[in-house]
Amino acid sequence: MSDILFVLSGLLLGLAFKGGMWLFLIPFAGVACALAIMNRPRLPGGKTAPIPVVTRAIRATGLVPATTPDLRSEYKDVQQEYNEPNSTLKVNQVWNRADADIDKAFHDMLVGLRGLVPAANSLLILSRVSSSEWGVRSFYNDGTTQIATDIKIGENSGLLGQLFRPGVDRLLEGDLTGGKALLYYLDNPSIKSIVAVPVFDRNKNRAGALIIDSVYPNAFNTNTALALSYIANNIDMLGYKSYASAKNYIEQQQFSVLYYYQRKFFQTMSVKDIYRQIFEYVKENIPFDRLLVLALDKPNENVGHVVFCDGVDSEQFVNKQFTLNDKGICVLALLRNRFMERDFSNGFSEYVPRIDNQEKRNMELLQLLVMPVPTEASAEMAELAICLESRFSGRYSEHEKELLKAFAGVAGFAYDRARKFEHGKDLAMRDGLTGLINHRTLHESLRTEKIRADRKGYNIGVLMMDIDHFKNVNDTYGHPVGDEVIKGIADAISGEIRKEIDVVARYGGEEFVVGLIDTTPEGMVETAERIRKAVGKLVFDVHQSEPLRVTVSIGAYLVTPDFRDMKAALNNADQALYKAKEGGRNQVIQYKLEQ
Ligand code: GH3
Ligand code: MG
Ligand code: MG
Repeated sequence: MSDILFVLSGLLLGLAFKGGMWLFLIPFAGVACALAIMNRPRLPGGKTAPIPVVTRAIRATGLVPATTPDLRSEYKDVQQEYNEPNSTLKVNQVWNRADADIDKAFHDMLVGLRGLVPAANSLLILSRVSSSEWGVRSFYNDGTTQIATDIKIGENSGLLGQLFRPGVDRLLEGDLTGGKALLYYLDNPSIKSIVAVPVFDRNKNRAGALIIDSVYPNAFNTNTALALSYIANNIDMLGYKSYASAKNYIEQQQFSVLYYYQRKFFQTMSVKDIYRQIFEYVKENIPFDRLLVLALDKPNENVGHVVFCDGVDSEQFVNKQFTLNDKGICVLALLRNRFMERDFSNGFSEYVPRIDNQEKRNMELLQLLVMPVPTEASAEMAELAICLESRFSGRYSEHEKELLKAFAGVAGFAYDRARKFEHGKDLAMRDGLTGLINHRTLHESLRTEKIRADRKGYNIGVLMMDIDHFKNVNDTYGHPVGDEVIKGIADAISGEIRKEIDVVARYGGEEFVVGLIDTTPEGMVETAERIRKAVGKLVFDVHQSEPLRVTVSIGAYLVTPDFRDMKAALNNADQALYKAKEGGRNQVIQYKLEQ
């Protein structure tokens, strides 16, 4: 009979250790096991027969019982520092559900035990509340006596404190004088006997206790204690499995969020959107105390910016520019296209700059990850990187690093795609020789500028310019020198106008148009003169005794809000240019009606 019950309890436990829905079997397994022990045949000489089944069941599944509270506390900080309250994944909820599952399973187990041990008054599971104390995790009794759920039991706490001590694997007292000494009662029921065993965690540390008491003297025997110790093994396992499945669920969810972002990424063709989505993803999915997203947005000049930042002392990084010569660790990660990780927990005296030496030194941030985003641009250098920092040393697990790496891969694809698209758009919009916008883009640009100017009521000055005697340049020095001259003049013009405000285009072969936004008649002519003089000062080395100098003629027309037709405006400027040419070249002529 007892053998069959052992096999049954082993089977049930085996299933239970598979976790998930099978967890509910644990109380039944406990019941079967306890029944088996109680029916166990006594060997001659008071020795008891070996009980192999439960241990075999544990080995068969290949699982080792774990520390319940330890696994939970690994994630305690995560909850507190979670960045994004609107995150799709509610980590706290998952952990709370795991806690509730465990509470229910513990309760069911105690109810089952109560049925088996009719003499029992209260049944309790204690578990760790600090490194040296246990509290009441779960209890069951008929409700006539009150349990002190907020007690803390330590090594020196009377009878139960003994369970902390190595070598004490069971407590079997059959002659107690009252409940008070047990500490876990609020009232003082006349408890006469107690049986208690320690709960061990996966590291074989004492992580709590399983206790049954009774108002009858000598209510328990060694068999009850032995049965309890087997059940106690499962207590830790049950907690471990529940928390492990919560952890797996969270990690699986975090990976599936990647697919969501993959979709989001491919809905945009804008590099700036990609920057923002990288920032949002990290904010929602990985805890940090500081986050920087860096982009080498001008790779030809080795210049980049912090495109997004958040967290501790992040104000100083808003839009911060860096060059690849800066000595920060984030810059180094970009330069080497290599994942960088630092843990400063062992009291670091030398501050490691994140971007450069001017930044505010925060010595509280103890762990740092810099993940470069792999792009097609270059294997040696990265153009994007994500820098995550935490106050907690060892904050980022392998899982989080894997997650970040997988995300960086997805982001790299999206970035390449958007960058190619923007580059293609740029090629169609701009002139390859000078980098200025082309004829077609100028018309679009002037149209939108005109709408804005009309709304705000300001003028737009239109300058049309043409290089003087340019045929001679080509004829004398060759076409390539002519191209150099065009490029030099384009740069000279750009240098005399307001970047990001005024508009300049290569209108034709050696003709340029400038749109001066919000100007006066005097301002327009002044700027035109400045451009003319700047061009006149240019010298081109043509490997002859005299360097080459060129001049431009400029026609100007002021578009006031009452003048609506931008094409006619360009025409008027062109007519003025014609006058300038006629008048001897190298001069500025403003359009006049009587022309
Ligand atoms: P003017 O002072 O009257 O303007 O005399 P010009 O010689 O400059 O006459 P025009 O403006 O008609 O000359 C245009 C010349 O510019 C013709 C063409 O050979 C040259 N040109 C146009 N586009 C390019 C270009 O992209 N590169 C070079 N090298 N030359 C160009
Ligand atoms: Mg011309
Ligand atoms: Mg010309």
